Amino acid sequence: MKLKFYGTRGSIPICDAGFQKFGGNTTCLQITFTDTNRIAIFDAGTGLRNLGRDLRAIGHKQEQILIVFTHFHWDHIQGFPFFAPAYDPGQKITLLTLGRDQTVRNLREIFEVQMQAEYFPVQLDCMGANFEFLQVADASKHFTGINNVETVLTAQRHNHPGGAYSFRIERNGKVLVICTDVEHGEQIDARLVELARGADLLVHDAQYTAEELQKRRGWGHSSFDQALQVAEMAGVKRLALTHHDPEHDDEFLERIEKLCRERFANTVLAREGMEIQISEAPGTMSRSPGRLSRRTRLTSSRRK
Ligand SMILES: [Zn+2]
Ligand SMILES: [Zn+2]
Repeated sequence: MKLKFYGTRGSIPICDAGFQKFGGNTTCLQITFTDTNRIAIFDAGTGLRNLGRDLRAIGHKQEQILIVFTHFHWDHIQGFPFFAPAYDPGQKITLLTLGRDQTVRNLREIFEVQMQAEYFPVQLDCMGANFEFLQVADASKHFTGINNVETVLTAQRHNHPGGAYSFRIERNGKVLVICTDVEHGEQIDARLVELARGADLLVHDAQYTAEELQKRRGWGHSSFDQALQVAEMAGVKRLALTHHDPEHDDEFLERIEKLCRERFANTVLAREGMEIQISEAPGTMSRSPGRLSRRTRLTSSRRK
């Protein structure tokens, strides 16, 4: 598997100078199953536009494209109306929400409303692609189906306003866990630690510093400290932090990244366009996997 970040920004896209190293587009992840060259997409934030453009540019053909949603807040669906393959009548696109305890009543309606005439010039029915909207408890067969390689997808509902899901993708003995838009509360959510157990790569929400989190209770996100804590408790090999706050510029995030690495060596702050190989041996991203004993508390020693 290979993961590519097309959107790393949380809450709202941003185009200001000083934010471009980490990127301004909102959450969108592409997983490429490198042995079969098939892709799956997680979330349709504004990064989806570039993803679609890249597929066109390299002439990627795939009869059916899966888009899985963690949840449906704006920053996770805003790219959908600008996804070029959605305008191709020959393209089949499956939009998928999964997990038990679903609160979504009508998945199709979410996108119909997003694209109704008051909000957007082209309505869902006029886009062109052949859409399929699925709400399922277990999506493993959909992932296995696009590759003919057994893939196990586990979903775990977690705390976020309106609800959201984390995902664990296991394939050929490798494990990728995506855990974004999560607020742990007073304690780290033990179910998410279990979900992330031993993962080759954990992608985790890290929108706030510990201090910012105190002022943002109930907004649905994690601090850098909490993401590191989950990585340590779950014994993951590598950690990628994402959903960067729109107030955190490149300089600030680079400083935070250094602090994070002092505590968990194999940490990276996700940058737009960054690719991470999950099929390769651990240690290709940075030299020493695992944790260091020194614990560094990350505070908002921010720019003035
Ligand atoms: Zn979000
Ligand atoms: Zn959200």
